[in-house]
Amino acid sequence: MTATDREAMVRYDQLAARVYEERRIPAGTRDLVLALGWATLRDPRRHHPEQGVWTRTRDILNIDDRRMWQLLADDVPRYEHDWHAEPRGCQAPMVKVDRLCGRGVVHGFCEFDPHTGWARFWGFCNRPRCRAYATPIAQRAEHSATKRPEPIPNTGGLLPLFFTWNWEARYAKAMDVIKRCPTWEPPSHGLSADQWPSVPGTTPVKAFPKLRLVASDGRTLAPAPH
Ligand SMILES: [Zn+2]
Repeated sequence: MTATDREAMVRYDQLAARVYEERRIPAGTRDLVLALGWATLRDPRRHHPEQGVWTRTRDILNIDDRRMWQLLADDVPRYEHDWHAEPRGCQAPMVKVDRLCGRGVVHGFCEFDPHTGWARFWGFCNRPRCRAYATPIAQRAEHSATKRPEPIPNTGGLLPLFFTWNWEARYAKAMDVIKRCPTWEPPSHGLSADQWPSVPGTTPVKAFPKLRLVASDGRTLAPAPH
């Protein structure tokens, strides 16, 4: 075993340990990160550069090209609002009881955070008192929409955390092939989740020494300097 082989083993172990400690990685992305790591660092065929990392990773995962693009599309860095986390029912407070009204929402709208660009949903029922409570919030929300900054991404961006690659082109192609959102543009905050500005109340993603992946044109593999 050469020193390079030993170093690659240690790096693969570090990669796997980091992947398993990151609870936010969806299962498909986790499989892809580990397979890319294996293809780059441990796969015996890595010494045969005529088989690119993409092809070998696809073989290791036993999936087709479309599924590969699907996995990439799932990791496209973007902001996604969690509608399930929003409170249900009218959000106007009751006068004498310490709780919200909670009746069925008739009038709903989004307010945008001026720093993160993230949305917060407001919903109110049709009772006059609740409507009166909602009026200044609705005005504020309308104003916030005109001043909304580009949202800080909160989803995806995990593959570039581990690997240096032409991710912008890969993500764009994944969007094109999968066609989930053909208007996708790379976020100005960065493609990698560890580059995004921290948002109060959320845990930032830790950086990891990135491995360089080769494009599937048969260039030699080398770990990125760190
Ligand atoms: Zn109400």
